[in-house]
Amino acid sequence: MASVRLDRLLANLGYGSRREIQMLARAGTIVLDGSPLRDADQRIALDPDLSSRLTVSGKSLDPLPGMALMLHKPLGVTCSHKEAGPLVYGLLPPRWRRREPPLSTVGRLDKETSGLLLLTDDGALLHRIISPKASVSKRYQVTLDRPLRGDEGAIFASGTLMLEGEEKPLLPVTLEVHGPTSAAVTLTEGRYHQVRRMFAAVGNHVAALHRDRVGALDLPADLEPGQYRVMGEGDVARVF
Ligand code: URA
Repeated sequence: MASVRLDRLLANLGYGSRREIQMLARAGTIVLDGSPLRDADQRIALDPDLSSRLTVSGKSLDPLPGMALMLHKPLGVTCSHKEAGPLVYGLLPPRWRRREPPLSTVGRLDKETSGLLLLTDDGALLHRIISPKASVSKRYQVTLDRPLRGDEGAIFASGTLMLEGEEKPLLPVTLEVHGPTSAAVTLTEGRYHQVRRMFAAVGNHVAALHRDRVGALDLPADLEPGQYRVMGEGDVARVF
Protein backbone atom coordinates (compact mmCIF):
# COMPACT_ATOMS: atom_id res chain seq x y z
CA MET A 1 0.00 0.00 0.00
CA ALA A 2 1.31 3.47 -0.87
CA SER A 3 2.47 5.62 2.00
CA VAL A 4 2.99 9.34 2.42
CA ARG A 5 4.52 11.66 4.97
CA LEU A 6 1.85 12.80 7.41
CA ASP A 7 2.74 16.51 7.05
CA ARG A 8 2.57 16.29 3.26
CA LEU A 9 -0.75 14.45 3.30
CA LEU A 10 -2.40 16.98 5.61
CA ALA A 11 -0.84 19.99 3.86
CA ASN A 12 -2.17 18.67 0.53
CA LEU A 13 -5.61 18.26 2.08
CA GLY A 14 -5.55 21.94 3.04
CA TYR A 15 -5.03 21.61 6.81
CA GLY A 16 -2.19 24.17 6.78
CA SER A 17 1.47 24.52 5.89
CA ARG A 18 3.81 21.69 6.74
CA ARG A 19 5.07 23.79 9.65
CA GLU A 20 1.52 24.24 10.94
CA ILE A 21 0.95 20.47 10.63
CA GLN A 22 4.14 19.85 12.66
CA MET A 23 2.67 22.06 15.39
CA LEU A 24 -0.70 20.28 15.29
CA ALA A 25 1.11 16.96 15.63
CA ARG A 26 3.22 18.16 18.56
CA ALA A 27 0.05 19.38 20.28
CA GLY A 28 -1.34 15.84 20.03
CA THR A 29 -4.35 16.84 17.89
CA ILE A 30 -3.65 14.32 15.10
CA VAL A 31 -4.87 10.94 16.31
CA LEU A 32 -4.69 7.56 14.57
CA ASP A 33 -6.68 4.65 16.01
CA GLY A 34 -6.90 6.52 19.33
CA SER A 35 -3.17 7.34 19.67
CA PRO A 36 -1.70 10.79 18.97
CA LEU A 37 0.81 10.97 16.09
CA ARG A 38 3.33 13.47 17.44
CA ASP A 39 5.87 13.12 14.64
CA ALA A 40 4.58 14.69 11.42
CA ASP A 41 7.63 13.42 9.46
CA GLN A 42 6.46 9.83 9.76
CA ARG A 43 5.00 8.02 6.79
CA ILE A 44 1.55 6.59 7.01
CA ALA A 45 -0.07 4.03 4.78
CA LEU A 46 -2.79 5.39 2.49
CA ASP A 47 -5.33 2.90 3.70
CA PRO A 48 -8.75 3.59 2.14
CA ASP A 49 -10.14 3.50 5.72
CA LEU A 50 -7.76 6.22 6.90
CA SER A 51 -10.46 8.90 6.87
CA SER A 52 -12.39 6.98 9.52
CA ARG A 53 -9.31 6.02 11.58
CA LEU A 54 -7.52 9.36 11.69
CA THR A 55 -8.89 12.48 13.33
CA VAL A 56 -7.58 16.05 13.31
CA SER A 57 -8.74 18.21 16.20
CA GLY A 58 -11.38 15.58 16.97
CA LYS A 59 -12.87 15.46 13.44
CA SER A 60 -12.54 12.67 10.86
CA LEU A 61 -9.91 13.26 8.21
CA ASP A 62 -11.20 14.72 4.93
CA PRO A 63 -11.55 12.32 1.98
CA LEU A 64 -8.18 11.16 0.68
CA PRO A 65 -6.86 12.35 -2.69
CA GLY A 66 -8.50 10.45 -5.53
CA MET A 67 -12.02 11.42 -4.51
CA ALA A 68 -15.10 12.19 -6.56
CA LEU A 69 -18.16 14.15 -5.51
CA MET A 70 -21.70 14.49 -6.78
CA LEU A 71 -23.14 17.91 -6.19
CA HIS A 72 -26.65 19.23 -6.75
CA LYS A 73 -25.76 22.43 -8.53
CA PRO A 74 -28.23 25.18 -7.75
CA LEU A 75 -29.13 27.91 -10.23
CA GLY A 76 -26.94 31.01 -10.22
CA VAL A 77 -23.54 29.47 -9.45
CA THR A 78 -20.72 29.16 -11.96
CA CYS A 79 -18.54 26.12 -12.71
CA SER A 80 -15.28 28.02 -12.87
CA HIS A 81 -12.29 28.78 -10.70
CA LYS A 82 -11.85 32.19 -12.32
CA GLU A 83 -15.10 34.02 -12.98
CA ALA A 84 -16.59 36.54 -10.60
CA GLY A 85 -19.76 35.77 -8.65
CA PRO A 86 -20.79 32.69 -6.69
CA LEU A 87 -18.83 29.60 -7.72
CA VAL A 88 -19.67 25.93 -7.20
CA TYR A 89 -16.42 25.63 -5.24
CA GLY A 90 -17.94 28.04 -2.70
CA LEU A 91 -20.44 25.29 -1.81
CA LEU A 92 -17.61 23.08 -0.52
CA PRO A 93 -15.85 23.35 2.85
CA PRO A 94 -13.22 26.14 2.63
CA ARG A 95 -10.41 23.68 3.40
CA TRP A 96 -11.34 21.59 0.35
CA ARG A 97 -10.61 24.61 -1.83
CA ARG A 98 -6.97 24.42 -0.72
CA ARG A 99 -6.56 20.76 -1.70
CA GLU A 100 -3.71 19.70 -3.93
CA PRO A 101 -4.45 18.27 -6.45
CA PRO A 102 -7.46 20.56 -6.66
CA LEU A 103 -11.04 19.47 -7.19
CA SER A 104 -12.34 20.30 -10.67
CA THR A 105 -15.76 19.99 -12.19
CA VAL A 106 -16.22 17.15 -14.68
CA GLY A 107 -17.37 19.27 -17.60
CA ARG A 108 -19.60 22.23 -16.82
CA LEU A 109 -23.18 23.26 -16.36
CA ASP A 110 -24.21 26.82 -17.28
CA LYS A 111 -24.82 29.29 -14.50
CA GLU A 112 -28.58 28.98 -15.17
CA THR A 113 -28.61 25.15 -15.32
CA SER A 114 -29.23 23.12 -12.17
CA GLY A 115 -28.66 19.47 -11.36
CA LEU A 116 -26.10 16.71 -11.14
CA LEU A 117 -22.53 17.95 -11.33
CA LEU A 118 -19.53 15.71 -10.69
CA LEU A 119 -16.25 16.95 -9.28
CA THR A 120 -13.00 15.09 -8.82
CA ASP A 121 -9.32 15.60 -8.02
CA ASP A 122 -8.47 12.50 -10.06
CA GLY A 123 -7.30 13.69 -13.49
CA ALA A 124 -7.44 10.19 -14.99
CA LEU A 125 -11.05 9.73 -13.87
CA LEU A 126 -12.02 13.17 -15.16
CA HIS A 127 -10.57 12.41 -18.60
CA ARG A 128 -12.17 8.98 -18.68
CA ILE A 129 -15.60 10.55 -18.10
CA ILE A 130 -15.28 13.42 -20.56
CA SER A 131 -13.45 11.44 -23.24
CA PRO A 132 -15.55 11.19 -26.43
CA LYS A 133 -14.55 7.50 -26.52
CA ALA A 134 -16.43 6.83 -23.28
CA SER A 135 -19.68 8.29 -24.73
CA VAL A 136 -21.03 8.92 -21.23
CA SER A 137 -24.67 9.97 -21.58
CA LYS A 138 -26.14 13.01 -19.86
CA ARG A 139 -29.87 13.50 -19.39
CA TYR A 140 -31.45 16.95 -19.11
CA GLN A 141 -34.99 17.88 -18.15
CA VAL A 142 -36.02 20.81 -20.31
CA THR A 143 -38.83 23.37 -19.95
CA LEU A 144 -39.53 25.32 -23.13
CA ASP A 145 -41.05 28.72 -23.83
CA ARG A 146 -43.08 27.44 -26.80
CA PRO A 147 -44.89 24.14 -27.43
CA LEU A 148 -42.95 21.44 -29.26
CA ARG A 149 -43.80 21.21 -32.98
CA GLY A 150 -43.54 17.43 -33.20
CA ASP A 151 -40.54 17.04 -35.52
CA GLU A 152 -37.83 17.82 -32.95
CA GLY A 153 -37.30 14.17 -31.92
CA ALA A 154 -36.54 13.13 -35.51
CA ILE A 155 -34.28 16.13 -36.11
CA PHE A 156 -32.29 15.53 -32.89
CA ALA A 157 -32.01 11.77 -33.59
CA SER A 158 -30.85 12.27 -37.17
CA GLY A 159 -27.21 13.01 -36.41
CA THR A 160 -27.34 15.80 -39.01
CA LEU A 161 -28.26 18.82 -36.89
CA MET A 162 -25.69 21.58 -37.32
CA LEU A 163 -25.38 24.18 -34.60
CA GLU A 164 -24.57 27.71 -35.64
CA GLY A 165 -20.84 28.35 -35.99
CA GLU A 166 -19.89 24.64 -35.85
CA GLU A 167 -18.36 22.48 -38.54
CA LYS A 168 -19.58 19.04 -37.52
CA PRO A 169 -23.18 17.91 -37.01
CA LEU A 170 -24.27 16.80 -33.56
CA LEU A 171 -24.24 13.13 -32.70
CA PRO A 172 -27.78 11.74 -32.35
CA VAL A 173 -29.71 12.97 -29.30
CA THR A 174 -32.77 11.24 -27.84
CA LEU A 175 -35.86 13.32 -27.05
CA GLU A 176 -38.55 12.11 -24.65
CA VAL A 177 -41.63 14.33 -24.72
CA HIS A 178 -43.33 14.78 -21.36
CA GLY A 179 -45.79 17.56 -22.27
CA PRO A 180 -46.30 20.41 -24.76
CA THR A 181 -43.43 22.42 -23.24
CA SER A 182 -41.53 19.80 -21.28
CA ALA A 183 -39.17 17.06 -22.41
CA ALA A 184 -35.97 15.23 -21.58
CA VAL A 185 -32.97 15.01 -23.89
CA THR A 186 -30.15 12.50 -23.58
CA LEU A 187 -26.87 13.29 -25.27
CA THR A 188 -23.33 11.99 -25.26
CA GLU A 189 -21.46 15.11 -26.36
CA GLY A 190 -20.93 18.21 -24.29
CA ARG A 191 -20.75 21.09 -26.70
CA TYR A 192 -20.97 24.65 -25.45
CA HIS A 193 -24.58 25.43 -24.40
CA GLN A 194 -25.57 22.37 -26.40
CA VAL A 195 -29.14 21.89 -25.21
CA ARG A 196 -30.04 25.58 -25.41
CA ARG A 197 -28.54 25.83 -28.91
CA MET A 198 -30.29 22.64 -30.10
CA PHE A 199 -33.68 24.04 -29.17
CA ALA A 200 -32.77 27.44 -30.65
CA ALA A 201 -31.96 25.57 -33.90
CA VAL A 202 -35.56 24.27 -34.01
CA GLY A 203 -37.10 27.67 -33.25
CA ASN A 204 -37.68 27.25 -29.54
CA HIS A 205 -36.16 28.65 -26.36
CA VAL A 206 -35.13 26.82 -23.21
CA ALA A 207 -36.73 28.42 -20.16
CA ALA A 208 -35.30 25.98 -17.59
CA LEU A 209 -32.67 23.25 -17.74
CA HIS A 210 -31.87 20.61 -15.14
CA ARG A 211 -29.49 17.63 -15.44
CA ASP A 212 -30.77 14.62 -13.54
CA ARG A 213 -28.57 11.79 -14.78
CA VAL A 214 -24.97 11.13 -15.87
CA GLY A 215 -24.44 7.64 -17.33
CA ALA A 216 -26.67 5.51 -15.09
CA LEU A 217 -26.06 7.71 -12.04
CA ASP A 218 -29.18 9.61 -10.98
CA LEU A 219 -29.16 12.78 -8.94
CA PRO A 220 -30.23 11.41 -5.54
CA ALA A 221 -33.74 12.61 -4.62
CA ASP A 222 -32.55 13.56 -1.13
CA LEU A 223 -29.62 15.67 -2.32
CA GLU A 224 -30.93 19.22 -2.04
CA PRO A 225 -29.66 22.09 -4.23
CA GLY A 226 -26.25 23.14 -2.92
CA GLN A 227 -25.59 19.79 -1.19
CA TYR A 228 -22.89 17.33 -2.20
CA ARG A 229 -21.90 13.76 -1.39
CA VAL A 230 -18.65 11.81 -1.72
CA MET A 231 -19.07 9.15 -4.40
CA GLY A 232 -18.42 5.52 -3.57
CA GLU A 233 -16.98 3.01 -6.03
CA GLY A 234 -20.49 1.93 -7.01
CA ASP A 235 -21.48 5.51 -7.88
CA VAL A 236 -18.38 5.93 -10.05
CA ALA A 237 -19.04 2.59 -11.80
CA ARG A 238 -22.59 3.75 -12.60
CA VAL A 239 -21.24 6.68 -14.63
CA PHE A 240 -19.72 4.34 -17.27
N1 URA B 1 -26.53 22.28 -22.39
C1 URA B 1 -26.72 23.58 -22.10
O1 URA B 1 -27.20 24.34 -22.91
N2 URA B 1 -26.36 23.99 -20.87
C2 URA B 1 -25.85 23.21 -19.93
O2 URA B 1 -25.57 23.65 -18.83
C3 URA B 1 -25.67 21.85 -20.26
C4 URA B 1 -26.01 21.42 -21.49
